[in-house]
Amino acid sequence: MAVRRKRMTMNFSNRKLPAFVPVLSLMILSCAPETKAPNVLLIVVDTLRPDRMSLYGAERPTTPALDSLAGQACVFERAYSTSSWTMPAVASIMTGMYPSSHKATEISRTLAPELETLAEGFAASGFQTAAVVSHTFVDEKHGFDQGFAAFDSKNALGHEAISTEGVTDLAIARIEQFTQKRKTPFFLFVHYFDPHFNYKDHPDIDFAAPHAGRLDGKQEYGDIRAIRHSLQDDELQYLLDLYDEEIRHTDAGIGRLVAALRKHGLDEETVIVFASDHGEEFLDHGRIGHRKTLYEEVVRVPMLIRVPGGAARRVADPVSIGSLAPTIRELAGLPRNQDAVQFRSLADLVEGRATSTRGAIYLETEKTVGMVEQEVKGDDYHAIILDGWKLIEDRRSGEQELFDLSRDPLESANLASQDTARLATLKEALEVSRRLATSGQAPGRDRTLSDAEIEKLRGLGYIGD
Ligand SMILES: [Zn+2]
Repeated sequence: MAVRRKRMTMNFSNRKLPAFVPVLSLMILSCAPETKAPNVLLIVVDTLRPDRMSLYGAERPTTPALDSLAGQACVFERAYSTSSWTMPAVASIMTGMYPSSHKATEISRTLAPELETLAEGFAASGFQTAAVVSHTFVDEKHGFDQGFAAFDSKNALGHEAISTEGVTDLAIARIEQFTQKRKTPFFLFVHYFDPHFNYKDHPDIDFAAPHAGRLDGKQEYGDIRAIRHSLQDDELQYLLDLYDEEIRHTDAGIGRLVAALRKHGLDEETVIVFASDHGEEFLDHGRIGHRKTLYEEVVRVPMLIRVPGGAARRVADPVSIGSLAPTIRELAGLPRNQDAVQFRSLADLVEGRATSTRGAIYLETEKTVGMVEQEVKGDDYHAIILDGWKLIEDRRSGEQELFDLSRDPLESANLASQDTARLATLKEALEVSRRLATSGQAPGRDRTLSDAEIEKLRGLGYIGD
């Protein structure tokens, strides 16, 4: 357990020592041989709904590799994103800040260079760093390469492609490179994209039977969106079957990645962190896709952290992916980022020193300026989850929806006009959280999209005609 000893030494030296600590023990600590900090492998799977994963109780074996990892890991049963789409959510993971603060909330913006990202924290502490990403919204054009010595986005192939193999191959190649400097720990960020629409058939997985109706697995998001109001039960089930196949396929990639760690003897020196950036809606509230709302189906995410020598734990209390940055920093022995104090570390839960946590979860999404000028949309929500209740507020109209999540997890009955006392409590918490979320204002950095890029985004359905 060299890893643990190192952490204790580092934590100890970071704290103010009590006066009674004998000078001798201080000397012993400072003379202790320098042991290696743990490596960190951060895996983010795009668009992954926990309720479709066997890790979270789904009947189908969609995530056998993650299920196996959970035998040594802390699984967060109620983890939430900070938003309902890729760019702000991944930026929250990387900075430990709310979207209103990191401002990476438009395709026409970049993650501001002034922010200290996780990768920059690792680089400053002497770690080897690399990233393999598979979507343009988190690529170097959008500033997500900050702090990575090697950054690879060649697998950002769009909605039609299947990229898990390419991502996994490159990530394994990075691991092999890291082993050449065995004494220097690494931080590797791996981003998978396949569960994101378009939902593709995987011939080697038998969740989806060939479908005789309007859908045959070749439909793009726009095609499905166009017929969403007339989708029949069997058609919706077919889409879910395809989605499950994409999850299983991605899980196999994760399994191969973790096996590569094991093969190189790095398994017990590496903290493995796994999460998604947001969920996906399948007509839960009349829509398909994500980004437009803040209902549970788009904001609940899976989250798991395995530390070397860790034990299986489950945490039932709500937590946010915004906590990943401070948690990862603590687990790897990095100093806290003093500029990012909006989320607390969950290291005590991961390592079993605590079993519960309490606090509000704040969520936001916006489609204000849009990706290009003509794409101004009205959706602009924020929400708060507190003590089993949830308030969603339209930031423009002020319209409110209040849900009792413990009795109504599907958010079907809006109690805003019935329970005004509860509404007032949640509204107050929403305002406090909003102030916190906007407290770390980064300068928003606009970027200009080329005509070719606009055309490409239009082809992917991100920009309307
Ligand atoms: Zn995403």
